[in-house]
Amino acid sequence: MNQLSDRLNNLQPSATLAMSQKSSELKAQGVDVINLSVGEPDFFTPDVIKKAAEKAINENFSFYTPVPGYMSLRKAISDKLKKENGLDYAPEQIICSNGAKQSVCNALLSIIGAGDEVIIPAPYWVSYEQMVILAEGKAVIVKCSIDQDFKMTPAQLEAAITPKTKALILCSPSNPTGSIYNKEELKGLADVLAKYPNIIIISDEIYEHINYIGGHQSIAQFAEIKERVAVVNGVSKAYAMTGWRLGYMAGPLWLVKACNKLQGQYTSNPSSIAQKAAEAAYLMDQSPVEEMRKAFERRRDLVLNLVADIPGLKCRKPDGAFYVFPECKSYYGKSYGDRKINNSEDLAIYLLEVAHVASVSGSAFGDDDCIRMSYATSDDNLKEAFKRIKEKLSLLK
Ligand code: PMP
Ligand code: GLU
Repeated sequence: MNQLSDRLNNLQPSATLAMSQKSSELKAQGVDVINLSVGEPDFFTPDVIKKAAEKAINENFSFYTPVPGYMSLRKAISDKLKKENGLDYAPEQIICSNGAKQSVCNALLSIIGAGDEVIIPAPYWVSYEQMVILAEGKAVIVKCSIDQDFKMTPAQLEAAITPKTKALILCSPSNPTGSIYNKEELKGLADVLAKYPNIIIISDEIYEHINYIGGHQSIAQFAEIKERVAVVNGVSKAYAMTGWRLGYMAGPLWLVKACNKLQGQYTSNPSSIAQKAAEAAYLMDQSPVEEMRKAFERRRDLVLNLVADIPGLKCRKPDGAFYVFPECKSYYGKSYGDRKINNSEDLAIYLLEVAHVASVSGSAFGDDDCIRMSYATSDDNLKEAFKRIKEKLSLLK
């Protein structure tokens, strides 16, 4: 019996979470798996933030909060957007949610209906396409190759726009590629978008602080389109707070109100304690963020050296986030025993079952030529993981 709705039947599970779960299951069976699949900082949440949460518990911040979050938190985010990004958003233009994931989904569910098109440059984060499907829209995937640094050009954007285009999802720094759009590149996209006043831009900036080239740029900085940009961000990555579930969207008032209505009907406010913790994160001395960023940068360099030593992988240097996304298609068509590698999924399964290293197939991100590995883990884990990967890939003939 299948009692599920078409909406559910059409939805794919999250490949990142599925791979991470698979790796945990193997670990529970006693297999020594190194997990490079899920993307989350391995650091502990900074003490100042934890203390603020304890204080909030003790001071009984245990009641429902306004649906979009405490005003004090939205004020702190508004100040952050002004100070760090030069963006003016009143607290009323901000809504906090259960992670940036919910913020992206809220925005899509608020604006996308049956048949509406959403442009998504590939490689893209796994959940975007599925969220569009959930909203009964149509994802229009724009393939951006490794030779263009995985970034969409203005010409590609313009070619993908049709009268049905309702939104664009942009992610910079990017998961999975680590690519970062510079100001000129964003301006090029903004110039195209300025000609199409009905398109909403969802700008996912969750990796803002994991940037190795400096100077985060938001597409919301361009006055000609700012009224149509929804900036999504949160505390998961910058402050090592993935489990706390606190993200936000800053955008035009009409869209924030729509998300408020939607959220008010299905999840209400995000956790009151997480909100208090996030407020402390935005107000504290930001040096722990820089410490973590530096550690990621060091690991990025380590991993690039390790990957360079594997002849079949071709990797560009990521400018941000904590993933490498090497091209691995040189292994397609090769075999080891009765295992034949035909695509990135076969390769990810091979690496998991034979090398005991969990990664995520590029196909989950819309690029079957590549494979994603997170380097948000210790140097020792990274060295051992890439030693295993190198050894087991060399067996493929
Ligand atoms: N956007 C991107 C690109 C991500 O990689 C993630 C990671 N989960 C999210 C959004 C969601 O983050 P959060 O934990 O705040 O929901
Ligand atoms: N963003 C992370 C990843 O891509 C977390 C898992 C998820 O929510 O997809 O691995």
